[in-house]
Amino acid sequence: MPPKPFHAADPLIARLRSMARESPALKDAAARYEAILPLLRTADLRTAAVPLTVDQVRQKLEKGVPLLHDVDLELDVEAVQELMLKLARAIEAADAKRHSPGFHFPWAGAAEAASSVRKLRQVLEGRRLDIAALLPHIAKNDQASVESAARQLEVDAGLVVVLGQNALRPAFQTWGRQLAPLSKGIPWNKGACYVCGAAAMLGELQDNDQVKHLRCGSCGADWVFRRLQCTFCGNEDHKSQQYFFAEGQGERARVEVCDTCKGYLKVIAAFAPTPSEMLPVEDLATVHLDFIAKERGYRKSVVYSQKSI
Ligand SMILES: [Zn+2]
Ligand SMILES: [Zn+2]
Repeated sequence: MPPKPFHAADPLIARLRSMARESPALKDAAARYEAILPLLRTADLRTAAVPLTVDQVRQKLEKGVPLLHDVDLELDVEAVQELMLKLARAIEAADAKRHSPGFHFPWAGAAEAASSVRKLRQVLEGRRLDIAALLPHIAKNDQASVESAARQLEVDAGLVVVLGQNALRPAFQTWGRQLAPLSKGIPWNKGACYVCGAAAMLGELQDNDQVKHLRCGSCGADWVFRRLQCTFCGNEDHKSQQYFFAEGQGERARVEVCDTCKGYLKVIAAFAPTPSEMLPVEDLATVHLDFIAKERGYRKSVVYSQKSI
């Protein structure tokens, strides 16, 4: 059954549309998200519950090991492959709708991006990509390991990874929801996610007290983190940390940078925790902060710990 179109009143759609209105440069990306999010929301990857007891959860976290590390995760690879194909088709259709014949692509590289999606869609249709072999690398954000398979088929390895990570997200979110109650109250003082090991996507200042939480864009996990500590190197010296706001964008979002390790983290104010599916949208909405940080020589951490699939 095809997913129901989203209602414009859906908070996710409302957020995407307001973002596209405020930042016309993000219109294409917002349209792509609007096309793929219904597919992600209704996806069934036939995941099995993670076989960890409360005691095992506690032991792993106390040792500083993300919960999915060294665990056999069960999901239906065929369903992931199918979802990747559906995502590619949805993105292609969204691009075609916005760029009808005769339309000039609004940004350099947009035509190439559209053609990369088309090529990947064709390869997925022909089942020429060994998704089962690539998924562990995709889950670890290990583009280099996807590179040779992608090159042979003349598809963009970065796109394979992004599409694959999006297709895996419903599974990771299911595992994240399962493990959150088992982990309650156990401290985790790392910048990498306690569930899946991915680097935090965003920081959130939650509640009236502005307690700092880190959020994982992959599984949606939410954990409290010390406010004045760098998420990458653990530096707590406030003299070597600073933050920037984007001009004219208010103070809802800022980027925190560390001069010890040159890492940066985007932090948003959120009275309630941002729903997991909204996290990539908030990441996109704050892309101007990535530019500000990168321009000043800071970088995002790309450290992922091992995950087995
Ligand atoms: Zn995670
Ligand atoms: Zn640092």
